[in-house]
Amino acid sequence: MKSYRWVLAAALAALLAAGCSRQDDIGGTGLVRLDEKVYALIAYGPSSTEGLGANSGFIVGDESVLVIDSRFSYSHARQLLSAVRSVTALPVKYLVNTHYHPDHVWGNAIFRAEGAMILARPETSIEMERFTPIYKDYYRGRKPDVFEMVKEVELALPDSFVIDELHIDLGGIDVVVAFSGPAHTAGDLTVSVPSKKIVFTGGLVSNGYHPNMGDQGADFANWLVTLDKLEESNPKIVVPCQGPAGGAEMIGFQRDYLVNLAGLTVDAIRRGRTLSDAILEIRVPGTDGYKQDNLLPFNIQAIYRTRALDVVAPRVEMDIPTGFVVSDAAGGPEAGMIQWIVQSDDGYLELEMSWQPTSRGDIILEDIHDRIARYGGSKDGLYDMTVAGSRKLIVGGETVPAAFGSWKYRQSTRTKGGGTWSWTMSLRDGTVYSIRMLTNTGDDRKLEERNITTMEQVVSTLRNK
Ligand SMILES: [Zn+2]
Repeated sequence: MKSYRWVLAAALAALLAAGCSRQDDIGGTGLVRLDEKVYALIAYGPSSTEGLGANSGFIVGDESVLVIDSRFSYSHARQLLSAVRSVTALPVKYLVNTHYHPDHVWGNAIFRAEGAMILARPETSIEMERFTPIYKDYYRGRKPDVFEMVKEVELALPDSFVIDELHIDLGGIDVVVAFSGPAHTAGDLTVSVPSKKIVFTGGLVSNGYHPNMGDQGADFANWLVTLDKLEESNPKIVVPCQGPAGGAEMIGFQRDYLVNLAGLTVDAIRRGRTLSDAILEIRVPGTDGYKQDNLLPFNIQAIYRTRALDVVAPRVEMDIPTGFVVSDAAGGPEAGMIQWIVQSDDGYLELEMSWQPTSRGDIILEDIHDRIARYGGSKDGLYDMTVAGSRKLIVGGETVPAAFGSWKYRQSTRTKGGGTWSWTMSLRDGTVYSIRMLTNTGDDRKLEERNITTMEQVVSTLRNK
């Protein structure tokens, strides 16, 4: 009799669940019921029509609803709102933006129209203002089909900032919104329901997707600390940024990804591999079948940008002008190179320093001649290089030879470009330092002068460490 009743109750529950078209398969896609009061909307895939793979969710109290992330476009946001409405008619009082990326915030206006107060970190607000026009320009120019989807999006900035931790009572259920320092972006928030041991990780964890490590505000060291804290909170259900919800083991997989990729990349730099070599060689163990593998090169590049200077550790330093970021590096203190790059309205400026041991002083002049011959004279080189002149520069108090001229890509290559270059070399403590500045500003004579002046300013600050 007892078991018969149980079977009947189970059948009734299944019928009810089916009637509400919800699923309790926690690892599924679409609207997933994690608990009677906690729901996730798990993206079907990484395409733009699927909202770029970004998950969202909502928590239903006795009095009001809190929504986590508003998705990529107004139509995605409306899907999320109808998912909320399929469960409850209560007002959506809060919307939390876990970070500023468009697939998490571009639907904000839909929830503001519902009367929701938008909560985020101050960095999220600043970055939304700064990057929304840049992203929209990118879509307008490069991906018109995606632009169609998001062209109506207006900035809907946060109404209130979360500093450390915010406790929200939705009526019978407490929600904690917490900041634990920059990780995936400068302003990551998590949303958790402590009584249910459920956490929405925002950008901190991806499941079965390559994470995006390329954000300017990302902090890898603190990202690992954040994952440790997340694991210590001992969650039962984890809703990642992308990919299906699951258990706490997902946090460990994310940590392994970050640690393994950083290890492999640092090793490549140390072995003298350039960024393009590393991109061809590096695969993260255990990520076969991961979605968004187009992000892997960006992740490797991000590690070059943030770690390369410490790995190659040149024994000299220069004052690199503001705005330049490390774009490539290889080698170590004995022999190696670093390349910095800055984008400007006129194009880009590239600064490269390479160093190698030598016992001969006259190698400096030979090297300059050799390099110019290689770039400017050889038929199979990538560029045509023309020497415009040479002069002596003061480099860290020494007089050294410098040459300058113009360059352009050979016609056989598809990439167009051209501009000016200047080059100088300095010998110190048995190591020759070659410093080159290159710009793609075309044939503009004024820009050429400016390039040479910038070069002279930078090399004059070269000093031993
Ligand atoms: Zn993100």
